[in-house]
Amino acid sequence: MRRPFVAGNWKMNGTRAEASRLVDDITSTLSMASHTEVAVCPPFILIPLVAEKLAAGGALALGAQNLSSEAAGAFTGEVSGLMLRDYGCQYVIVGHSERRSLYGEGDDTVARKFAAALEHGLTPILCVGETLAERDADETENVVARQLQAVLERNGVKAFANAVIAYEPVWAIGTGRTATPQQAQSVHAFIRGRLAHADRVVADGLRILYGGSVKGANAAELFREPDIDGGLIGGASLNAVEFVTICQAAAGSEGSK
Ligand code: PEP
Repeated sequence: MRRPFVAGNWKMNGTRAEASRLVDDITSTLSMASHTEVAVCPPFILIPLVAEKLAAGGALALGAQNLSSEAAGAFTGEVSGLMLRDYGCQYVIVGHSERRSLYGEGDDTVARKFAAALEHGLTPILCVGETLAERDADETENVVARQLQAVLERNGVKAFANAVIAYEPVWAIGTGRTATPQQAQSVHAFIRGRLAHADRVVADGLRILYGGSVKGANAAELFREPDIDGGLIGGASLNAVEFVTICQAAAGSEGSK
């Protein structure tokens, strides 16, 4: 049985006051009775504040948006998995499309970051997904397979027992253009099938999130699909009401996968 999971990617947003209010608003309305796991991934500099608030108890887990592939040393401007773990992070997003396209992170870098996350006891949320041009050229499965293969080759399939995948079509991120449930389900089933070739038990237990313009209004129909185990939420995670509505939609799918 896969437990639904919703993670909020705040991206580069939030002052300390805004972050504090957002966490308070989410935790005060999120149902503790739900079996759905919920995490927030603030910018690095807000992690200490959010960690302190969450230490007081509550239903939220803490994640980061990126990490270095190195543990420590002369890497100016970087933050390591060791440091994130030290602050109580449980999750870290790896290979987000903005990291790949704006900061030149290739498949090999992403695979090394995935390894670094596991090495420091963090659960990587590995993002994969195609651009619009790649989808139009019917290359979606090839692109996603290539992105997965790089991580599989370096880390092995068993590493996915402690990981989460997020399928995020680049054309759907921050555009308001969500993949249809059928489009998303088809790629999710493809991802699970690829991993099942290597290890069926790991593939069956793996949570695969959908990300790309998920909102309160479209979350339930996405999460109803058999291979969609929750969402990685960008813009809507900055609005407590929207985010909690999405979490409730995930809770509504509990027990069905
Ligand atoms: C994201 O940044 O991972 C994302 C899915 O963004 P949005 O929900 O805003 O499309």
